[in-house]
Amino acid sequence: MPCTAKKHEIRRDGEHASSSGVYDVDLVLTTRELARLILSRGLDFASLPESEADSPIGEYTGAGTIFGVTGGVMEAAIRTAYYGLTGTELADPEIKLVRGMDEVKLGEVDVNGRKVRVAVVHGMSNAKALLEKIKSDKAAGKESNLDFIEIMACRGGCIAGGGQPYGTDDRVREERIAGLYTDDEKSAKRCSHQNPSIQKLYKEFLGEPLSEKAHHLLHTEYHQIPLYKD
Ligand code: SF4
Repeated sequence: MPCTAKKHEIRRDGEHASSSGVYDVDLVLTTRELARLILSRGLDFASLPESEADSPIGEYTGAGTIFGVTGGVMEAAIRTAYYGLTGTELADPEIKLVRGMDEVKLGEVDVNGRKVRVAVVHGMSNAKALLEKIKSDKAAGKESNLDFIEIMACRGGCIAGGGQPYGTDDRVREERIAGLYTDDEKSAKRCSHQNPSIQKLYKEFLGEPLSEKAHHLLHTEYHQIPLYKD
């Protein structure tokens, strides 16, 4: 994982993180820890034989890949929302408006004739400024004109998360972002709903998107926690 927060998240919300009776995730390794593990075991990836990734986690789509960049979660969600609304795939799955390193990206995305007003921010100070604006608008009796907000705590998104290799600057961020978009572009499947494992999960267990079970198991709540334990 690019994110050190995942180490905390696998043990939070007892009920949600262990709905099967055992914890869903045993252990979280950050990207940095994985790299150290690979080095310490002397693994030379270039000389390893090709093999299939384990299922179900091995199957992924371009939509999953771009979750790692600012704007990527929104772009992936819009691709699938469009399919959900129309039954057809977006002619061009690339939502350029939500891409790039601008600190706040605001605009309208046309989803089958409906203008969806979006805001994408990354970096906590930008998130704070946006949330304060929404709060003050609300206090002044003004309705927020936004339909869909994406916030990523790390500048550039998870490609620059706390568990990533040290020495991340904007040049490195841009290179990692370009790498993820290239991977998405080359993916045969670029939308979450095209992932066979996801389709099977809904068919055999969750029912349909937004079902009661899906809502209960795939959503969470946030509350303030102290920085340090007493
Ligand atoms: S943006 Fe940063 S804090 Fe948020 S999930 Fe990604 S790595 Fe973790």
